Amino acid sequence: MRRVVILSEAKNPLHSALRVNSGRHPLVISQPPGGILPPIHCIGVRMTSEEPALSRAKGLSMTNGGFQSGDQSATLLAAGVSVLISLASLFAGPGRTGSKPAAAARRPESLPAFNGGRAFEDLKRLVAFGPRPPGSKALGESRAWIQSQLKAAGCSVEEDSFTASTPVGEVPMTNIIAKAAGAKPGIIMLAGHYDTLRRADIRFVGANDGGSSAAMLLEFARLYCLRKNPLNIWLVFFDGEEALVNWTATDSLYGSRHLAAKLASDGEIARIQGMILLDMVADKHLNIYKDTNSTTWLTDLIFKTAAKVGYGKEFLDEKSAYGDDHQPFVDDGVAAVDLLGNVGPPTASSSFGAYWHTAEDTVDKCSASSLTVVGRVVVATVAELELASAGRPRPH
Ligand SMILES: [Zn+2]
Repeated sequence: MRRVVILSEAKNPLHSALRVNSGRHPLVISQPPGGILPPIHCIGVRMTSEEPALSRAKGLSMTNGGFQSGDQSATLLAAGVSVLISLASLFAGPGRTGSKPAAAARRPESLPAFNGGRAFEDLKRLVAFGPRPPGSKALGESRAWIQSQLKAAGCSVEEDSFTASTPVGEVPMTNIIAKAAGAKPGIIMLAGHYDTLRRADIRFVGANDGGSSAAMLLEFARLYCLRKNPLNIWLVFFDGEEALVNWTATDSLYGSRHLAAKLASDGEIARIQGMILLDMVADKHLNIYKDTNSTTWLTDLIFKTAAKVGYGKEFLDEKSAYGDDHQPFVDDGVAAVDLLGNVGPPTASSSFGAYWHTAEDTVDKCSASSLTVVGRVVVATVAELELASAGRPRPH
């Protein structure tokens, strides 16, 4: 991925300056020096340590594996449900960018329980395959293992294979699509890349950058593939996210550009009601910013949901902009959001973190608890999208 611009609302000016100073990839500042930045709307409340209590007061409580309702008084629960449904009505619109929000229905009693510990085991297993650049034997082996896990979880698994023309020649690539059936035609797409950066000079294993997104998707498979879903849930593992030489519009995002074009050509892309992309979400000290290249209403829904469930500390009310696998879908009119974290602490040489695209992107820098944070926020957001869809007529 590439960070292309910072619209900073950072509380610490130094931190902001460091983030502007991008790493390996060229940085484009969209505003001229002295130019006026577009207004930044502050949405939601920065959460504090008291917020989990607030979440409980709204009828949700965190349990070992997820959230359950009903541990507070009926009055509080009713008030909470009302607030949550209002939120869904406000922000959970149909998937096409800019479309109108729909009415929400009854909130489910409990959410599927995302297990960050299990996802962390998957992350370690993926790293054990070694460096996994596109076209490599190790990526093929990891793909076979991913597919075996998906099938064990009860998913229907498809391959989207193609040959990419790259600066290093023709490279075979394969996206993996796991499909969890839904009652309605609409699709919620959860996605991430499973390839790792091609580096001849270092041993790059991509525990966080490539490993975390694939591991998260495997855990989602266990939650959704055997569940009775209101909407279809597609889990998409993109190949070829990373540049093979240097990041450009044509040397990057191979898998997502291919799949978006394919779905657009057969019309299926119109069924996608929301796409949530995950990338680098396992750092022990996780920070996720609001990506300004993502769809605003879905970004707002996710960050409000994060605050509600007590993870405002990780989902920051600060803005940045990313070029990542969501972009081809945004360009085709899909409501899509990139949840992109960090790989180590920010430094002057790398705004994505000290270990980003280095041999230090290893398992010891990652944590199960960060995977849990992101997993629970995504699960809660999926529930909001499902609720919103319940109030919408079936597409023709
Ligand atoms: Zn990367």
